[in-house]
Amino acid sequence: MDQKAMYQLSYGLFVLTSAFEGKDSGCIINTGIQVTSEPNRISIAVNKANFTRELVEKSGRFNLSVLSEKASFDTFRHFGFQSGRDVDKFAGYQDCKRSANGLYVVTAGTNAFLSATVEQAIDLGSHTLFIAAVDDMELLSQTPSATYAYYQSNIKPKPEQKPVSGKTAWQCTVCGYIYEGEELPPDFICPVCKHPASDFEKITV
Ligand code: FE
Repeated sequence: MDQKAMYQLSYGLFVLTSAFEGKDSGCIINTGIQVTSEPNRISIAVNKANFTRELVEKSGRFNLSVLSEKASFDTFRHFGFQSGRDVDKFAGYQDCKRSANGLYVVTAGTNAFLSATVEQAIDLGSHTLFIAAVDDMELLSQTPSATYAYYQSNIKPKPEQKPVSGKTAWQCTVCGYIYEGEELPPDFICPVCKHPASDFEKITV
């Protein structure tokens, strides 16, 4: 079984935002999809490690800002590579506005946003699957949406490190960070994007 077959699935990329008791946060997800059209419902699957997931669970509301091909790596770094438990991601952040439901949407490097109210939350172990009714939406630009493949080939910076030839190294598939060594420790966490060892692949040069 070749696990790389999973990479052939196509995904969009989104900034998921929510708020509860005056605390706002947001994170990057690639799991936003429309699941029914009448009524218009979407689903999102969010890792339990994400602080924003807790805000969605507690408030029952969220916004999904659709990242476009003009999204900068800084947007991914800002919302994806740090936790809302440690930092207030909207403190001093300029490229956002409040939508009618009072939650933030990201206005730079995005082409639309959807506002949604949760109807069902399904516990999937590592993730929660939320099924939500779309209450509001707005088109922000005509720039094409960024797919995960587009992020991989055009937005993610090429790694500055080059592994020594002939040696085994492990590369983070999310941000490109390279760990040099025969074996990657199973509890290794990427120092750049905080993704686990399971998101690394072995490379030999
Ligand atoms: Fe990484």
